[in-house]
Amino acid sequence: MRELDLLSQVSTMLTSFDKDRVLKNVIDFLMRAFDVEQASLLMLSDIGDTNRWQLFSLRPKFQTAILRAPVSADAFRQAHRLTNDGLARWVIQHKQGAIVADTHDDARWLEIPDMPSGARSVLCVPFILDDQVVGVFTLQHSEPAHFSTLDLQIMMIVANQVAVAMRNAELFTQMRAQQTQLEAVLRAMPDVLLVLDADGKLLMINEAGVELMDAPDEHSVLGHNLNDLQGQDSALSLVVDIVGSPLQSGQRWSFEAHSDQHKRDFVVNISVWEQEPGGKAGYVVVMRDITQMRDLNRFKDEMLQMASHDLRSPLALIVGYCSLMQMDVEPESQVASYLGIVQQQTERMTGLLDDLLRVEKIRNSPLEFYERVDFEDVVNSALNNVRASVDAKKQRISASLRLEDTPPMLLSPPLVREAMSNLLGNAVKYTPKGGRITVTSYKEDQRVYFIVEDTGIGIPPENLPRLFTSFYRVRQPGTEDVEGRGLGLSLVKTIIERHNGEVWVESTPGVGSRFGFWLPL
Ligand code: ADP
Repeated sequence: MRELDLLSQVSTMLTSFDKDRVLKNVIDFLMRAFDVEQASLLMLSDIGDTNRWQLFSLRPKFQTAILRAPVSADAFRQAHRLTNDGLARWVIQHKQGAIVADTHDDARWLEIPDMPSGARSVLCVPFILDDQVVGVFTLQHSEPAHFSTLDLQIMMIVANQVAVAMRNAELFTQMRAQQTQLEAVLRAMPDVLLVLDADGKLLMINEAGVELMDAPDEHSVLGHNLNDLQGQDSALSLVVDIVGSPLQSGQRWSFEAHSDQHKRDFVVNISVWEQEPGGKAGYVVVMRDITQMRDLNRFKDEMLQMASHDLRSPLALIVGYCSLMQMDVEPESQVASYLGIVQQQTERMTGLLDDLLRVEKIRNSPLEFYERVDFEDVVNSALNNVRASVDAKKQRISASLRLEDTPPMLLSPPLVREAMSNLLGNAVKYTPKGGRITVTSYKEDQRVYFIVEDTGIGIPPENLPRLFTSFYRVRQPGTEDVEGRGLGLSLVKTIIERHNGEVWVESTPGVGSRFGFWLPL
C-alpha cells in the first residue's frame, strides 16, 4: 500500500509543465519517502550532448536553489569523473538501476575526496529517453542495507515517469516559445490576416485585421462569426460569401476588393486549412493593401496619357514648322542642315513616345484579342517578314521547325509575330554581312519553344541582366551605326510574359547570341 501510494503521489506531481518544478517536487518527495538525507542528480546539460554531464548534490530544502543556480566548473569536473568511473557509469552503461548494499565492499562506489558523502548504502536509477540515459538519480543513506529490491523497482518506475514528464515539459516550453514568436510575426505583419473555422467563426486576427474591422481590440471580434460582425467593411463582403458556402479542401481564391469605408484597395487571398483529411478545417484570409501601388499605377497611366497628347502635339508642331522654315532657306545652307537635324531628332522623340505607348498598350491589352491559331503559321509569317533584310545583308537564314503535333494555341498572333520579328530583326542587325542565322522551333513538355541563333557580335556578360529593360542599349564597337531605341527586347519580354511564357538569352562576345522564348501550350 505504501508503494502504491507513493507512485500515485508522484504521478500527480508530474503534471506540471515546469521542468524544474517537476524535478524539485519529485526529488523532495522521494527523499522524504525513502528517508534519506542526501541525494545527487547527474543530468545531461543538453540532451544529445553526451560530454556535458552536470552534477547536482542535493540535500533536503536546498535542491531548488541548487537546480536553478549556474553550474560551476567543479560540478562539471566531478560529473565527468562520476560518469566515467563510478556507480553512475555502471548505471549509464547497463541502462538499469542498481543497489549498493554496503559502499565499503562495492567497487562501483566512488568517493570524491573533497566531497565525502558518508554514504553506506546507495540506490541509483537512470532517467532514460529514446533509449539514451539523460539523467542519473542517486539516493544515499548512512546505514548499510537501507534499500530493498522493491525500492529499486519502485524507483525505476518513478524514474521512467519523470523522464517522460521532463520531456513533455521541455516540448511544452519549446511550443510556447514558438507560439509566442509566431504571434509576434503575425502581429507585426502589415497584411490583414484572418483565420476562420469552417463555419466562418473568427479564430485568429492580427492588428491590421482589427483595424480594418474598426474593432477596439481582437477580443471583441474573436469567436464571432464573420457574417455577424457589425460595421463590416465592404472589402470583406466577398470573403463572407465564400466562407458562407460549403468548404472543400484544397480550394483557393484570389481577387481584388475595395474598402469603401477606409478608401483602400486589397488583393485578397483565401485558402482552406485542414488539420488532417476529414479533421478540423477552415479558411485563412490574407489581404494585401495595394492602395499605394494602385495610386502609382494610376499616376503612371496619367503620365503616359499626358505624354501621348500633350507632348506629341507640340512635337508635331515643331516638325511642321521646321518643314515650313526649310522652304524659306537656301537648301544647301547651314541653317537648312540645322533645321534638318531638329526635324530628325524631333521625329526620333515622337518615335520613342510611340514605342513607349505601344509597350504600355500591350501590357494592358485585354485577353479577348487572343485567337486559336497554328503556332507554325505564326513562325512562318515572321520568317517571311525578315527575309528581305537577311538578303540585303547577304546573310544566310535556316529554320528547323518540329511542330507537327502541336495543337492550335490560344494567343495574340500579331503580338507573338512581333516578338519573333524583333528577335529575328536583332539577329540581322547585330550580325555582320555574310553571317548566319538559325531558327529552331519545337514542342516539348506542354510548351512551344522559339529560338534564334546568330553568328553576330555577341553581348558582354555584364550587359545581359539589363538587356530586356526599356531603353537599354549595349554600347560596343560595331553598333554605332545600328538604328534602335532599346525597346525591342522589352517589348518581346512584355508580350511573352503576357502569354505566361518566358524569354532568355545566352551570348558570347565575338561568337554570337542565342535568344529564345517558350509559351505554354
Ligand atoms: P535596339 O535593338 O532597338 O537597340 P533591343 O531592345 O532590341 O533594342 O535590344 C537591346 C540591346 O541588346 C541592343 O541595343 C543590342 O545592344 C543588344 N542586342 C539585342 N539583340 C542582339 C543580338 N542578336 N546580338 C547582339 N546584341 C544584341
